[in-house]
Amino acid sequence: MAAQRSAQFLLSAVSAEQFPAAGPPEIAFLGRSNVGKSSLLNALVGGKAAKVSSTPGRTRVINFFLVTEKSLKLRVVFSDLPGYGYAKVSKSISASWPSFIAPYLKEREKLALCICLVDANIPARANDRQLLDWLHAMDRKYIVVATKIDRLSGNERTRHLVALKRSLGVDEILPVSAKTGYGITELWRRIGEAGNRE
Ligand code: GDP
Repeated sequence: MAAQRSAQFLLSAVSAEQFPAAGPPEIAFLGRSNVGKSSLLNALVGGKAAKVSSTPGRTRVINFFLVTEKSLKLRVVFSDLPGYGYAKVSKSISASWPSFIAPYLKEREKLALCICLVDANIPARANDRQLLDWLHAMDRKYIVVATKIDRLSGNERTRHLVALKRSLGVDEILPVSAKTGYGITELWRRIGEAGNRE
């Protein structure tokens, strides 16, 4: 059977001048280092799009991938942003982020949706909340996704998700697991909605 999904690496950008020319709608993936972003990207495209890191916090680039999903008739660009909050000293997202990230999130016309990842097992941090407040202030569309949900039992899932919603000030959090595939179809549906809206 032909693969439903494919991902083609486009480029790594270390400055705004290196961003790809505007193409399909872009879906940005954001989260603290070690949140499970690379694993989730790989689970979404069913392959090895992103490198699962043994040295968290190293990547300081935006990686762009051209992604197609046949059943959703979808062609989008995934932008994999560097993890924030790695250095213990930096409490704010801006302190641990290269300077070209903010302009990307602020000005990139093709950016259709920001997928903000939090670890379902760990209470939200100030910088997670700060990121959402910032995206909200810039009128960006975003959804919050809780990763590694497989590590929690049923009761814990409910409890953790309620606590995360409260501390992040959001109505909805989508639980996923890159390990079991839980929530991946629903996440694709959301990506499809955003990508096909244009
Ligand atoms: P990144 O730094 O955000 O890209 O995170 P990685 O994808 O490299 O994952 C960080 C760690 O969390 C690795 O040890 C992964 O194996 C683990 N991890 C990622 N996703 C999951 C998941 O869905 N379930 C479980 N149990 N572990 C995960």
